[in-house]
Amino acid sequence: MTPVTDQATGESAGAAFQPLPPTATIGILGGGQLGRMLALAAARLGFDACILTPEEQAPASRVAASCLVAAYDDPVALAEFAARCRVATFEFENVPARVVDRLRAAGVRMAPGPLALATAQDRIAEKTFFRAVGVDCAPFAEIAAAAHIPEALARLGAPALLKTRREGYDGKGQSWVRAPGDADAAFAAIGAAPAILEGRVDFVRELSVIAARGWSGEIAAYPLAENTHENGVLRRSVAPARVSDATAAQALDIASRLLVGLDYVGVMGVELFEMADGRLLVNEIAPRVHNTGHWTLDACQVDQFEQHIRAIAGWPLGPTRPFARAEMTNLLGDEADAWAVYAADPQARLWLYGKAEATPGRKMGHVNRLTGALPE
Ligand code: AMP
Repeated sequence: MTPVTDQATGESAGAAFQPLPPTATIGILGGGQLGRMLALAAARLGFDACILTPEEQAPASRVAASCLVAAYDDPVALAEFAARCRVATFEFENVPARVVDRLRAAGVRMAPGPLALATAQDRIAEKTFFRAVGVDCAPFAEIAAAAHIPEALARLGAPALLKTRREGYDGKGQSWVRAPGDADAAFAAIGAAPAILEGRVDFVRELSVIAARGWSGEIAAYPLAENTHENGVLRRSVAPARVSDATAAQALDIASRLLVGLDYVGVMGVELFEMADGRLLVNEIAPRVHNTGHWTLDACQVDQFEQHIRAIAGWPLGPTRPFARAEMTNLLGDEADAWAVYAADPQARLWLYGKAEATPGRKMGHVNRLTGALPE
């Protein structure tokens, strides 16, 4: 497979990239918990993180070397951000494409690049890309109006899941369509936005793979995690998932096709459906570090956050083999109020995100536990 070269600059993974020296500043667009853990990893390797976020007192800003509080497309803030950072990344995929374009025009190396961002921002572009690189996914149809739904439903089979093309997360912007008569209500329920209708996948488990690619084209993947969701939000990841060698190899092949096809630099989260016959279908990709990779913080020598910083800084990728089995549980809403219980539990490794307000379902922290030895 030939990497797609970035037409705008000619820069691509495989191009020479001098490793970024410690004390350099790495820019992070977004101030949430993923940015926070990236900033901590950057600091550990001697870098300064600079956060750009519209939010005052964001989780990431509280631990980063510097912070700019402004709208993502604020020209003054972007110019200052570009002046500080030679390399920049993002911690959520809804950063406007024009922001990434502006930073690149100002000489900042963005990793991942604009192709990965554009692909992950639009479910139709994403699934079209999956097909182009030979990766299986749910059958789908593009829906621009409620009137398109009955015909698509007839083709895909009922029930089918209507999702907004853009800006859906944690199961938001989704509605099941069980019969043609549901079309209007389902379309209204997702805000009458441009959408995709996906055939229902009768999966047996939800798995994910966290994989990284460096500027040199080097690829490294962590073992699969098995994930359970509640109300559309990740509750728990168990890793390494107990899968056959063939399934593990299939996941690595999928991740490699996606990384190479996007000429990707950094860590990517790939959400997978495992079918009864062992086949893996890709649900979606996250062009960033991922909640289902938080277990690596305590079970791996180099966790996903350090791996991302290493990748975008042009450092060698770290080892991905865990030294123990691990279980990660998200602390949602007021569950984080039990911090003292976790702090007193010698088996629990507590991560809190420094968020003041615990609204229901909000990701406030997570707990990792090492659950056993791995075979040699
Ligand atoms: P998403 O926001 O696309 O990750 O979807 C959220 C959750 O909905 C997934 O983790 C699955 O549990 C479920 N889901 C998404 N797409 C499908 C599908 N095509 N068939 C069955 N379940 C799905």
